[in-house]
Amino acid sequence: MADQYTMQDPTKQFTKAGPEFKQQQPEPGLQTKMTPVPDCGEESYRGTGRLQGRKAIVTGADSGIGRAAAIAYAREGADVVLAYLPEEEDDAREVVKLIEAEGRKAVAVPGDLKDEQYCIELVETAVRELGGIDILANVAGKQQYVEDIADLTTEQFDHTFKTNVYGLFWVCKAAIPHMKPGSSIVNTSSIQAYSPSEILLDYATTKSAINTFSKALAQQVAPKGIRVNVVAPGPIWTPLQIVGGQPADVLPEFGEQTPLGRPGQPVEMASAYVYLASQESSYVSGETLNANGGMPTP
Ligand code: NAD
Ligand code: MG
Repeated sequence: MADQYTMQDPTKQFTKAGPEFKQQQPEPGLQTKMTPVPDCGEESYRGTGRLQGRKAIVTGADSGIGRAAAIAYAREGADVVLAYLPEEEDDAREVVKLIEAEGRKAVAVPGDLKDEQYCIELVETAVRELGGIDILANVAGKQQYVEDIADLTTEQFDHTFKTNVYGLFWVCKAAIPHMKPGSSIVNTSSIQAYSPSEILLDYATTKSAINTFSKALAQQVAPKGIRVNVVAPGPIWTPLQIVGGQPADVLPEFGEQTPLGRPGQPVEMASAYVYLASQESSYVSGETLNANGGMPTP
């Protein structure tokens, strides 16, 4: 079985999109019901002990990129607290099983990141159940396309910011007092921060906010020995895209605009989250790692 160390042609490593990619589910969606099911490394991610004994929180850990990060962290030797929405329990259960199969601890903490109290409880649970926090991967996010600003409601604008920006702020704020020197925060931006789609006004704006927040926070916590970095994915095949993140009609061509000519799979993001969480990136902070199929970024 090929894993992330097997040399191969990246243009052919995973399938291009096609007619079968056209599908819709209500938010937040379940990836178990997607065709094809996204590849989060369940079979293919091989750990080599890069995060032995670490204690991690991963938000959005039930599906997509967060699930890929959670699986990779466990295979690299970390215990993981998983944050996700209560409606995503079926996806989350699978991740818990995969983490436990590695002999690592998995603690499921469902809830809504738009609620500051939940963000505080998430961190308190991690401290209580894992005995601390060495890695905080903020991966959860909300994306809903709206073609005309006239139809973009204040409620949606508010929910996108509450989920993507406030939730991240609240979890970072609660976690930092518990993080020892050597700890790492990994936030999740997007190609949308640099190259925004006209139909993603609110979402794209939150992603540039996350980049800027991370660069500022990285400087603030550097003297504490805590590093803050960002992963900025391109088009990745996840539930986010089929619950209103994109118009259904464009899904058959999803990812075709990238130089590599295909959508990315969540497992292809996993190594970025591992690298930035581990001591291998000891002199890297305030950085954004673009993993987007080769699209140029500033
Ligand atoms: P996903 O749907 O699998 O993950 C998003 C997760 O966010 C959900 O599983 C859910 O658990 C969580 N979430 C959403 N609203 C929440 C709330 N109010 N409270 C708690 N949790 C909530 O999709 P994904 O694509 O893996 O998204 C993960 C991250 O990657 C997001 O930040 C997204 O913006 C970013 N991203 C995705 C792409 C892409 O093409 N898929 C591209 C760039 C960036
Ligand atoms: Mg999900």
